[in-house]
Amino acid sequence: MDRGIGNWIPAQALRQPDKLALVDSDSGRRQTYAELNARTDRLADGLRQAGVQRGDRVALLSLNSAEFLETLFAVAKLGAVTVPINFRLAPAEVGYILADSGASVLICSEVFTDLAGAATASAGVVVTTRFVIGTEFEALVVSGSDATIECDVEESDIAVIMYTSGTTGRPKGAMLTHANMLWNAINTLTAAPEGLRRTDITIAAAPLFHIGALGVHCLPLFYIGGTSITTAAFVPDKLLKLMTDEKVSVQFLVPAMWAALAQSPALDSFDPSNVRMAVSGGAPCPLTLIELFLAKGWSFVEGFGMTETAPSCHLLDAAHIVSKSGSIGKPLRHIEFRIVDDDDTDVTVGTVGELTLRGPSLFAGYWGLPDATEAAWRGGWFHTGDLAREDEDGYVTLVDRKKDMIITGGENVYPIEVEQVLYRHPQVVEAAVIGVPNEKWGESVVAVVVTKSDPSTELADELLEYTREHLARFKCPSSVEFVDVLPRNATGKLLKRELRQTFSGTAESVSR
Ligand code: ATP
Ligand code: MG
Repeated sequence: MDRGIGNWIPAQALRQPDKLALVDSDSGRRQTYAELNARTDRLADGLRQAGVQRGDRVALLSLNSAEFLETLFAVAKLGAVTVPINFRLAPAEVGYILADSGASVLICSEVFTDLAGAATASAGVVVTTRFVIGTEFEALVVSGSDATIECDVEESDIAVIMYTSGTTGRPKGAMLTHANMLWNAINTLTAAPEGLRRTDITIAAAPLFHIGALGVHCLPLFYIGGTSITTAAFVPDKLLKLMTDEKVSVQFLVPAMWAALAQSPALDSFDPSNVRMAVSGGAPCPLTLIELFLAKGWSFVEGFGMTETAPSCHLLDAAHIVSKSGSIGKPLRHIEFRIVDDDDTDVTVGTVGELTLRGPSLFAGYWGLPDATEAAWRGGWFHTGDLAREDEDGYVTLVDRKKDMIITGGENVYPIEVEQVLYRHPQVVEAAVIGVPNEKWGESVVAVVVTKSDPSTELADELLEYTREHLARFKCPSSVEFVDVLPRNATGKLLKRELRQTFSGTAESVSR
């Protein structure tokens, strides 16, 4: 029994009050567990005086900062619910989340006050109270009493409503309970030999409004009494310097950030001897990128997770990062998985099916979406929407998203496989493969590409021919579309649903 994440700070303040808990690298503020505990008690009381009660939603539109995490812990101490919002969304999208979550209080960074205003106006929502980080936030802290807040929460209470990335549709609010956070921490600690330790230090460099930055290292480190550092902006050179200065030992980034770090001139002189574990997750990380870091002496692992799973589920450990490259490895200690067909029957080893998961870190459902919750949790297993296969050694490889799979003439085509071939062509900068409706075949395969040289019929033919050399005929695109840029969401994930909209019905008319 644990009294929730709000109790994680006092639990460490009791045992190691002088241990460094939280560093805000932008303001320079450094807090021990005792200081962080006192500050979050005051903030919690300030919020309580401002009307926040158990179960209320407090929206957070904030850059990575100490205040982000202080809010999370203070809100948790009250048994209220934090709703972190992606500040890269358009005002109407932010407005949707404010309205959907029914947040009564909004805490926002000063730079987002206009966005917050436009969001509330566009959604017609009334957020009764707003505190801007800075003077208003400090006044809130000062207004609170310094009496200890007794965390009065049940493990099954919701700690956070975290919206999914919105890659396959509108973001859904995943309800993550205090127990989910606890078991995610336990899974992270027991991921031997890479498991987190009390001596670990990490930087929250990916945005904290996504579960990856929050849940992979940052929150679990507070559970065991390690040190988390925030940085508002991801600047590769600066991050490497901060890693050196703060002696960072574990570091999570998404693949696009690792790719940017790989380009940083500062990487060559960076000494990685303190970094015992670099983690990539959230999207597939190309082996070439991983090898670049391995060659420089880094230890690299890849994790798989989702917003709904708080997030860590599978881990490809350092020992197998190359030999089992392309896989997401094995499940963490308290995660069970099955790979099933459309009837929820287990598929055999080597066969592609939908990845389903079970375990105490998995979410309590989608906020306000009982039908979607029921559909996802069919038969007591969470259906991830990801297609996967398991090899004879128990390693799981993600094949593609179920929604992106193409069925053409009764054959399944996994777009990522086709994209990987296209990426090997020297003219291709970016590639996305989609299915568009086709009367004869059900769907036909279309390649949408960004190329180095200008689009031409010859280049389209060359690319089509190239795929035919490397893939079974039914997997090959029937046409190629050239674009300047591929549509991506605020996280950088490809928006295939937009491409399908754009190119539906055009499959017969494009260059061949
Ligand atoms: P939405 O659910 O709103 O469509 P989303 O699924 O992109 O958006 P997230 O919860 O942020 O939202 O992302 C989880 C997804 O990211 C997984 O279902 C999987 O498709 C992908 N993913 C995560 N880690 C990896 C990885 N290591 N390799 C490949 N894909 C990954
Ligand atoms: Mg998803």
